[in-house]
Amino acid sequence: MSEAQFDVVVVGGGPSGATAAWDLARAGRSVLLLDRAGRIKPCGGAVPPRLLEEFEIPQSLLVAKARSARMVAPSNRHVDMPVGEIGYVGMVDRDVFDEWLRARAEAAGATRQKGTFDHIERDDADGPLVCFRESRGGELRKVRTKLVIGADGARSAVAKENIEGAENMHCVFAYHEVIKSPESTAEGYDASRCDVLYQGHLSPDFYAWVFPHGHSASIGVGSANKGFSLRGAVKTMRDDMGLADCETIRCEGAPIPLKPLKKWDNGRDVLVAGDAAGVVAPASGEGIFYAMTCGRIAAQAADAFVASGQPAALKQARKQFMREHGKVFWILGIMQHFWYSSDKRRERFVAMCADKDVQELTWQAYMNKRLVRARPLAHLKIFIKDTAHLLGLRPATR
Ligand SMILES: Cc1cc2nc3c(=O)[nH]c(=O)nc-3n(C[C@H](O)[C@H](O)[C@H](O)COP(=O)(O)OP(=O)(O)OC[C@H]3O[C@@H](n4cnc5c(N)ncnc54)[C@H](O)[C@@H]3O)c2cc1C
Repeated sequence: MSEAQFDVVVVGGGPSGATAAWDLARAGRSVLLLDRAGRIKPCGGAVPPRLLEEFEIPQSLLVAKARSARMVAPSNRHVDMPVGEIGYVGMVDRDVFDEWLRARAEAAGATRQKGTFDHIERDDADGPLVCFRESRGGELRKVRTKLVIGADGARSAVAKENIEGAENMHCVFAYHEVIKSPESTAEGYDASRCDVLYQGHLSPDFYAWVFPHGHSASIGVGSANKGFSLRGAVKTMRDDMGLADCETIRCEGAPIPLKPLKKWDNGRDVLVAGDAAGVVAPASGEGIFYAMTCGRIAAQAADAFVASGQPAALKQARKQFMREHGKVFWILGIMQHFWYSSDKRRERFVAMCADKDVQELTWQAYMNKRLVRARPLAHLKIFIKDTAHLLGLRPATR
């Protein structure tokens, strides 16, 4: 029997993989963190305070804190939603944030390896061989392990090769331009506010955003509609918001998965996490917190698998994640399906956001990442209002 070189090889050093590697190293497991590096993950970088608390992230990694969100309707009517005393929306720059997470995993004992995953081989010995190349066209290298965690993002190569159904993962495509923030507050830009635009001409099925990042800002849009011009939509936004002349730092895009995969493991020696498992919140596209949570849960399942040798331990990862977050994903999925389907509905949706109860519960749910049970009467009130809006019994403007 040949010995595994590593208990676990984590493929992908984004928030999910770096968190999994950090937790496994701290649990005393030998872990290799393989990341191809060289590309900043395209991302709006908005994170809730709970992420900082739960994953011990220092405030110094935040480049900005937004204190309110402006919801903009198709008619250009807008509703401002102040966060109030309960928190903020934090902003991270992904080049700095992700590298910090990887360095922390390494400091805890993980071995870092730069390289691109190629495929997994299996022979007569125990455990799979992870094959990767350090550079494009370079020599194929192999490392033996007991378990592979695929945290290599949406369209994961690990998932496509090993997880049933992964090749058909349904995604929204998101594109954003990172610009230098305006010197002074231009019309329509506020460095302490997130703008979220629900307008069919900017996104026929998702939304568009402006997120402040201190010296820079992210202006982006998402859509699953392949024929829709995301670049054209961002240009329109920049023109309309007086941001056309701001220096453009980067233009980039990437898919955002819309639904958790039905299976996260291959029943043998591979488990996927984060975007690779499809865990991005529908309607909001929020993925960093869920990727880290999923990475942590995957690390627990991996630890149990290494201890017991039982593939059944891997199944616990999806079960646990869906137990904790499945309901929220389900509700957000319905919201996206219904409210983002026409300008008429978007108009109603933004009107609904003017309600103080809706605002408070929305922010509490965002900050705490769970459905708030504390105020059943407020939920009932919102449910009745929501139903009235759905049925068109309430006017769009008040
Ligand atoms: C435009 C855009 C805006 C977004 N805005 C937000 C936002 O504001 N807030 C939020 O919470 N979420 C946002 N998201 C979603 C969020 O970025 C993702 O959900 C999150 O990054 C997922 O983390 P992850 O670790 O699973 O995957 P990723 O962050 O994609 O990390 C995958 C890692 O794997 C590595 N990798 C990939 N392939 C290989 C390979 N073959 N071999 C080796 N390494 C590999 C990559 O280098 C990368 O480091 C946004 C997404 C997009 C596209």
